[in-house]
Amino acid sequence: SDILANKVVVVTGASSGIGRAIAIRAAEHGARAVIVSDVTEAPREGGEPTAAVIEALGVTARFVKADVSKRTDNDALVAAAEDLGGVDVFVANAGITLRTDGADVPEEDYRRLMSVNLDGPLFGAQAAARSMKAKGKAGSIVLMASMGGLVGAGITVAYSTSKGGVVLMAKSLADALGPDGIRVNAVAPGTIDTELLRTAAGIAEASEGFRKRTPLRRLGQPSEIGDAVAYLGSDLSSYVTGHALTVDGGLLAV
Ligand code: NAD
Repeated sequence: SDILANKVVVVTGASSGIGRAIAIRAAEHGARAVIVSDVTEAPREGGEPTAAVIEALGVTARFVKADVSKRTDNDALVAAAEDLGGVDVFVANAGITLRTDGADVPEEDYRRLMSVNLDGPLFGAQAAARSMKAKGKAGSIVLMASMGGLVGAGITVAYSTSKGGVVLMAKSLADALGPDGIRVNAVAPGTIDTELLRTAAGIAEASEGFRKRTPLRRLGQPSEIGDAVAYLGSDLSSYVTGHALTVDGGLLAV
């Protein structure tokens, strides 16, 4: 499709998994340029770096190294889009899970998770909104939440708490930035087949159970999250803001 025609899209955590698929699908949906950002360029699942895959599709791509937990890295990331015309769609996708999550989550791990999963989207959205406002753009900001942010889970106490925060961050920022024409939404994926799923505490073991309980009876593909993000980034969703879009094969519906 060409629903992202003329848009400059920035995606964090875009070397691997869902972020990689969001960046590639953005190019396939007609984005003018895609800025791929991550702490490392090599995909966890192997293969060509995301920017190289996008360039092969004939779309301008750039890799910018940024740690989303650092405010200055987010500012530099958004600045990297300036000579391309500035960011139109900012996707705060980077997020981590812990092997040590649960009621006894250690303080250091808890703080590290919050710095990536909660500070990251806030600093990214702030940097993107500043640029959009300065240019008078009707931009779109998409924050990556999780079904774990809509229902609790004892095996992911810190993770679920962070993602619940992301859902309300999207709603609160939608209210704050709506008058400037900037939309902010969250996407809440169900069980998506990625490395994160395979390395998360207890989740790999639980994923077969999730699959059986999911009305569509399969895990999601990262590209299916990419399509949801493309919709929220595009003008097709021009009256949608403050929404958390569940993309879970129906898991939370039953
Ligand atoms: P992944 O581990 O496959 O990829 C995450 C990427 O983020 C990696 O490339 C990693 O290098 C990068 N990253 C980690 N810390 C970073 C930092 N500080 N700064 C910048 N980049 C950083 O994970 P994924 O499954 O693709 O998850 C992507 C997002 O989707 C996360 O926010 C995750 O919580 C969310 N999510 C995933 C699932 C799932 O089933 N996989 C479900 C719900 C939500």
